[in-house]
Amino acid sequence: MLSRLRIVLVQTFHPGNIGAAARAMKTMGLAELVLVNPRAFPDDEATRLAAGAADVVDNARVVESLDEAVADCVQVIGASARLRSLPLPHFDEPDAMAQSALHNAQSAPVALVFGRERSGLTTAEIRCCTHQVSIPANPDYGILNLSQAVQILAYELHRAWRTREDSGFIYQTPTQATPPTREQFGHFQRHLHEVMEKSGFLTQPHARTEEQLQALFARAEPSRRELSLLRGLLSALEPESPDDPERANEGDG
Ligand code: SAH
Repeated sequence: MLSRLRIVLVQTFHPGNIGAAARAMKTMGLAELVLVNPRAFPDDEATRLAAGAADVVDNARVVESLDEAVADCVQVIGASARLRSLPLPHFDEPDAMAQSALHNAQSAPVALVFGRERSGLTTAEIRCCTHQVSIPANPDYGILNLSQAVQILAYELHRAWRTREDSGFIYQTPTQATPPTREQFGHFQRHLHEVMEKSGFLTQPHARTEEQLQALFARAEPSRRELSLLRGLLSALEPESPDDPERANEGDG
């Protein structure tokens, strides 16, 4: 679906913006870049700012008119900071645009069109569009850098795609530390009990001190490694290292 989403940049002045837009696209899983009459392309600056997305720049197609760039598209969404008096359907929120674009991209290409750094899109170019979208921003100054506008809208497209049930997107999660077995946790609890008792820490046997400490450790959900660290600490705190054969066999795994 993302492969049917095309980014079109019209007469970009700074080649660096082309590279930065390519990077914005690739980070969001988009690959198809079409350039309408870029001032300077190919250009080292474009490749430099693309960083790991140089392939998107290398594969970019250069065409001579916006009509040509979007001829095969079923939906063409012009990104504009300012509303012009054209009666085009307008998305006030980028996420609404993304839902619609993704829906249409199920069957045919959809284009998002970005204008020139200085002057945006002409009225004639907006006429080539079926829809318009604006990124809501500061009313006193809401004009984004071209590649940043690409980044925001590309992010919304990616978000609309990845939250679909059939996207198969895999979220990166921190690797979970292995939790201790119940047996290992029991060994720790007994060890803690012994140290508390031997050290004279438990002066009032009926107080709930031990219970509270055990609850604290249970709540902390220590990993196997952390539990083993705690047991090392308990051993070091013991008055004399016990030559306890039972403990030696427990093993922390
Ligand atoms: N001076 C131009 C702004 C050009 S910024 C103008 O007034 O139109 C370059 C391009 O970035 C714009 O053509 C548009 O495609 C995109 N862009 C910048 N800010 C945007 C915003 N707030 N919403 C949607 N697109 C925006």
